[in-house]
Amino acid sequence: MSSLPSQSPADQLASDALRLGSAPASEILAWVERRFGRDAAIASSFGAEDVVLIDLARRHAPSVRVFTLDTGWLPTETHDVIEAIRRRYDIEIEVVRPDAATVERLEASRGLYSFRRSVEERKECCGIRKLEPLRRALSGRAAWVTGLRREQSITRTGVQAIEIDRDNGLVKVNPLVAWSREEVWTWIRRNDVPYNALHDAGYPSIGCAPCTRPVQPGEDERAGRWWWESPEKRECGLHERREGGAGGDSPQAAPQSRRSGDSPRPPHESSSGDSPRPRDEDSSRPGGDEDEPRPWHGVGA
Ligand code: SF4
Repeated sequence: MSSLPSQSPADQLASDALRLGSAPASEILAWVERRFGRDAAIASSFGAEDVVLIDLARRHAPSVRVFTLDTGWLPTETHDVIEAIRRRYDIEIEVVRPDAATVERLEASRGLYSFRRSVEERKECCGIRKLEPLRRALSGRAAWVTGLRREQSITRTGVQAIEIDRDNGLVKVNPLVAWSREEVWTWIRRNDVPYNALHDAGYPSIGCAPCTRPVQPGEDERAGRWWWESPEKRECGLHERREGGAGGDSPQAAPQSRRSGDSPRPPHESSSGDSPRPRDEDSSRPGGDEDEPRPWHGVGA
């Protein structure tokens, strides 16, 4: 009797992405643990989503490493939460910094605040302080895990749970993609997860000090990031999504995984068409009526 041909790695990935597209974060992280283990890394900016992600990963993906990018402009409160998380979970956190000589050249030739002059100069600074260190941090990895949520901004509405990051040649996994800000904060409170003190001062999203400010009630969660630029430009490049490429292609759409005649459904769409909700089986999962979300707690990266 002839056996069925086994799936190629690309087809297996596409099938896993479809299956896990609206799965609970715990299930997605357990898949990361099984499939990648120490070859995967959480990229953490230690915002609210990222501390939840680390808390969940300690439960469901303990082999996955954690790294952060220290741009040289991080607020003290971010360093404080990095240390609080390190102590709380007894984990190693790799702190990756930009190339010192390149930063010195930038500051000597353009000044300390060149990023305020134009989007191009801002992206140059992000490229030196974030993108190049990210590439180094991801070198040799097979997958990276982020705390991106679709709700965060108009630049993130298309994010999927499992994507192909062509720029870095990796699988990119976003277990909290369907979570709301309220669910993130309910998780933090119920599980007493350490968080950045700036969230209590009106900063839903925290990056480099000179490029972050508090937001007003009703403003977009990322309105305090690069506030002098238009909203569709407010990404540093770490999670930029480009037409036909990089920041996150659905594995189903990858040419090698597409079978003729197939019309793949995006992995975040359930078969019923319902919008996905996080469904963590942990008894402490968020969503209880007794938890009133705090007014301006949110975001990450
Ligand atoms: S967020 Fe601002 S200071 Fe930080 S790397 Fe980007 S432009 Fe430079």
